[in-house]
Amino acid sequence: MAQLIADRREIDFVMYELLDAEQLTKHEKFEDFSKKMFDMIIAEARKLSLKEILPTLAESDKKGVEFENGQVKVPQSFHRAKKAIRDAQLVSTMEDPEWGGQGLPYLISTAIMEYVVGANYSLSGYIHMGHGTGKMIELYGTDQQKQLFLENLYTAKWSGTMVLTEPEAGSDVGALTTSAKKNDDGTYTITGNKIFITGGDHDLSENIIHPVLARVEGAPEGSKGISIFIVPKIWVNKDKTLGELNDVECTGIEEKMGMHGSSTCSLSFGGKGKCRGLLLGEENQGLEIMFHMMNESRLNVGFQGSTSASLAYLYALEYAKTRVQGKEIACLKDPDAKSIPIIQHPDVRRMLTWMKVHVDGMRSLVYYVGACFDKKEVSQDAETKKLAGDMLELLTPVVKAYCAERGFEVCVEAIQVFGGYGFTSEFPVEQLARDVKIASIYEGTDGIQAMDLLGRKLGMEKGMVYTNFLGEINKIISAAKEKESLIALAKMLEKQVNALGLTAMTIGGAAMSENYATAFANAHPFLEVTGDVALGWMHLWRALTAKNALENNPKEKDRIFYQGVVTAARFYIETVLPVTFGKMKSVQALSDASLAMDEAAFG
Ligand SMILES: Cc1cc2nc3c(=O)[nH]c(=O)nc-3n(C[C@H](O)[C@H](O)[C@H](O)COP(=O)(O)OP(=O)(O)OC[C@H]3O[C@@H](n4cnc5c(N)ncnc54)[C@H](O)[C@@H]3O)c2cc1C
Repeated sequence: MAQLIADRREIDFVMYELLDAEQLTKHEKFEDFSKKMFDMIIAEARKLSLKEILPTLAESDKKGVEFENGQVKVPQSFHRAKKAIRDAQLVSTMEDPEWGGQGLPYLISTAIMEYVVGANYSLSGYIHMGHGTGKMIELYGTDQQKQLFLENLYTAKWSGTMVLTEPEAGSDVGALTTSAKKNDDGTYTITGNKIFITGGDHDLSENIIHPVLARVEGAPEGSKGISIFIVPKIWVNKDKTLGELNDVECTGIEEKMGMHGSSTCSLSFGGKGKCRGLLLGEENQGLEIMFHMMNESRLNVGFQGSTSASLAYLYALEYAKTRVQGKEIACLKDPDAKSIPIIQHPDVRRMLTWMKVHVDGMRSLVYYVGACFDKKEVSQDAETKKLAGDMLELLTPVVKAYCAERGFEVCVEAIQVFGGYGFTSEFPVEQLARDVKIASIYEGTDGIQAMDLLGRKLGMEKGMVYTNFLGEINKIISAAKEKESLIALAKMLEKQVNALGLTAMTIGGAAMSENYATAFANAHPFLEVTGDVALGWMHLWRALTAKNALENNPKEKDRIFYQGVVTAARFYIETVLPVTFGKMKSVQALSDASLAMDEAAFG
């Protein structure tokens, strides 16, 4: 099969036409860039991903990681791919050049990452998690800590991790038991066992910097008493040279249903009583600091869902164009009728269109969030800045959980388009489905994201942030109503937005009443309908943008593209959202049936 990741025309549409990325070059921070430069960097990322990264996907699944004598070995092909990514400086592209970044807008980095990360998510963890670790050090570290770690993390010379989970502390991080004791020299001695740590050990980097959550002796119980420590696999001397091995041991790796190229490690800290760490920030500030990394990681996990879906869709599309099977419905009884490519069967059309609207909708939403990062940072207008920050906070659990789930569903649908071949390992779609399933589990399960949306985000500023989110959708609806040909679609979306407002009020009110358990039993469907309507917003916005472009008499190729955007919006709003409307009715009804089930009645 051809090597496919994401359609560049579609990415350009989202970046430049929907979100006006070129306008960013007018801000002082990005004035040294031009659209031409953005295009060149993205083209380079695409070329490199197709040539060096995507070919590692199948090998990483079949061969996986090896664990020998306490050390993890990654698939051989990862070494070459990592070198290519580093040589092309495609890591931490949005960070300050002083620390090894390129100072690019977040939105442009999102497009780069769609290629570099989307081509093999297992590989990307070893390379890009150093950015999250580095960001915490940049924001909360001392000058010395920044000098010691930042550049090597941002440039992926060293790798990073996220070290939270313990056997008895999964979703409930506050239950962790790893301990820290202050030493006379200011370092801390860390003792404890962690599990499920992505990239916890490997041979792809000369050093791994672990940000570890632990409780300082005597600190309060629960999440209030958690601190965070920088624990290098190999100690880093004051002159940045590598010192002695720290007392961090990989005691095993998990066998998993997917992501075989990604090591999921059990780590023992201080088995010999000699694990040293540096406090990051203040004591007991650990969760607050880790949340910086977790929010970034949650968006990346949503991105994993949407990019995996993009790959799966493009593979299914290519297959549907070439697989010849069955006859046109009108010719079923004609023995002389020719068989046709399956893309011409109405049911295959339905599957492909369903996949496409979710892929394009999720991409638009993820890039919108990327644009919010930039607005929050560079906008001179206080209101725009605040709105961008609020949308980021509100949409983080939605992007994480919604894209993880829809991403998986799109991959499963791709298997269906392939028929029997989709179930075999001859084609990549079954691997994509296995790989992406984890997205709804790690970085806080989707259940935890739904609780975050209902319990924290919906109530932000007494509901005003959620109301403003609905207001942003209504702005697009009003603009679409100005176009004769979009009035019907705009009105249909308006009905859904009004229903979502009512749903939010109903469930939000219940969450603050004695009926809160019933509200939380409906939190997940509430997140789902929020995501569905957010995609409806993206589709109407896309259709409006495409309609405007069509009025300028575009070339034939572009005309077909824009008309496809409008038709896709029609499919989404006409066939997906009415189902959402039914789900909203169900959330509004606040059924307590699942809570009413006697535990014994479950069987
Ligand atoms: C491949 C892989 C990679 C991982 N990488 C990392 C990593 O790099 N670093 C790291 O620290 N961890 C990592 N994890 C751990 C991951 O974040 C946890 O598995 C996840 O947070 C869930 O914790 P748990 O497995 O203990 O499940 P549990 O917490 O036991 O949850 C089980 C089920 O109960 C639900 N549940 C639990 N508590 C509640 C609640 N209060 N309300 C409602 N529902 C609840 C959950 O939603 C879930 O459906 C990884 C896991 C895997 C499998």
